[in-house]
Amino acid sequence: MTTCILTIDQGTTSTRAIAFELREDQGLHPVAVSQIALAQHFPHSGWVEHDAAEIWAATLQTCREAIGKAGGVGRFAAVGITNQRETAVIWDAATGEPLHRAIVWQDRRTADVTAGLVAGGLEATVQATTGLILDPYFSATKFAWLLDAVPEGRARAERGEVLLGTIDAWLVWKLTGGAQHVTDATNASRTSLMDLHTRAWREDLCDLFRVPRAALPRIVGCAEPRGETVPALFGRGLPITGSAGDQQAALVGHGALKPGDAKITYGTGAFLVANVGDRPVASSSRLLGTLGYQIGNTAAWALEGSIFSAGSAIQWLRDGVGMIRDSRESEAMAQTLPDNGGVYLVPGFTGLGAPWWEPEARGTVVGLTRDTGPAHFVRAALEALAYQTRDLLDALARDGAPPFSVLKVDGGVTANAFAMQFVADICEIPVERPAFQEMTALGAARLAALGAGLIGDLEPRNSEAPAVWTPRMRAAERDRLLQGWRRAVKAAILVAA
Ligand code: ADP
Repeated sequence: MTTCILTIDQGTTSTRAIAFELREDQGLHPVAVSQIALAQHFPHSGWVEHDAAEIWAATLQTCREAIGKAGGVGRFAAVGITNQRETAVIWDAATGEPLHRAIVWQDRRTADVTAGLVAGGLEATVQATTGLILDPYFSATKFAWLLDAVPEGRARAERGEVLLGTIDAWLVWKLTGGAQHVTDATNASRTSLMDLHTRAWREDLCDLFRVPRAALPRIVGCAEPRGETVPALFGRGLPITGSAGDQQAALVGHGALKPGDAKITYGTGAFLVANVGDRPVASSSRLLGTLGYQIGNTAAWALEGSIFSAGSAIQWLRDGVGMIRDSRESEAMAQTLPDNGGVYLVPGFTGLGAPWWEPEARGTVVGLTRDTGPAHFVRAALEALAYQTRDLLDALARDGAPPFSVLKVDGGVTANAFAMQFVADICEIPVERPAFQEMTALGAARLAALGAGLIGDLEPRNSEAPAVWTPRMRAAERDRLLQGWRRAVKAAILVAA
């Protein structure tokens, strides 16, 4: 029987385990999956929490189910992990119990802390060291908040009695029965505590954010052994040999391994990650500097930009205003029109992300006439995906990122062929969608297979051809549309002022 890799994909809304079979061609093929939804807790406006004990229980259950469906633990050679990034967990080193609910990446409760640091003029230094802007999104201020919330938290952390980590670290610690407190360098690069250049924790950042170094996990590469699962969990100990944060795992899954390779995941929001090569690139457009992956002593750095509202604009048309019944209808509706009729929708529902960074901007529709109908709204929402992507690619080019030859895409919205063609047209770049869509889980499986010595490199070996959209719009038309979009963005920002 062929060997399998067990992949844990711990996401914001669910926990999944996927068994990948390693075939003779060194390709990885999914053979079993198990998934459990995760409860979201919103104790106050702007606060989002997860129960780390629930995450652990779901991890165990989904792993056991996937192992069972794939034919038993005897087939498995390694475990890989990918996870929602930045989410902060605190637990008791003696009992293994969480000491507070985990603070989720979306949580804004520490906004005053990061605003204070910005006001103190610290952002440029922090960004130069970590690649990250000062924002409550990242783990450091969440860790500090948790230590303040737990009785004697900071003193106990200094003594090693209380441990901190992102979700990957929590899961490895539980899977190894507390033997290993480790995190991989991609997850560590999202905390604001790691030096992006040396890939080590910085004492000065630990002091600045009030997080004791003693409570943090050891940083390891993305494809190397970091302990074994306790034999009692699955019937046999399995080596944990790979992990990466979700967007980085997707980068690997897509095989975006060279400078100039980029992927964008179009889901509720959209995340662009561009491989910039063997050293970090400092962004002057407020893109995030981050680690793509680290294999042994070699690393690939990346620049990342996010679009807050991508598929969520389609969700809003469906659930908020009822213009469509099903997301899929949007494609045919957009195509009933010869063009956008001058209507632009800027989906700034929760502000605008990179490169605009206008948290107070709001959703705006411009160009309405008496001819405007529901199809114009739908088309404008889909077109906005492409304009926002173009803005990110332009920011990358300004920052000196290597030029791209193709944009690799995944996520729910990529089912929409109209939208993907429009991205290709507006961004002047071929768009490629792999046949197998689970890039995040696939990337983690590849890292684990490499870490276990089962494969020799991370090169993708896709047996099925991807769908490709090539640019075909005339330059004059593209320029006219982009001008219209930029006027609409100005309006969205004006509305906020
Ligand atoms: P997430 O992982 O963020 O939950 P998914 O990758 O599952 O997101 O994608 C879901 C999003 O994709 C939803 O916002 C939905 O509106 C959008 N979506 C799904 N199918 C289509 C489609 N055919 N056309 C446009 N948008 C779509």
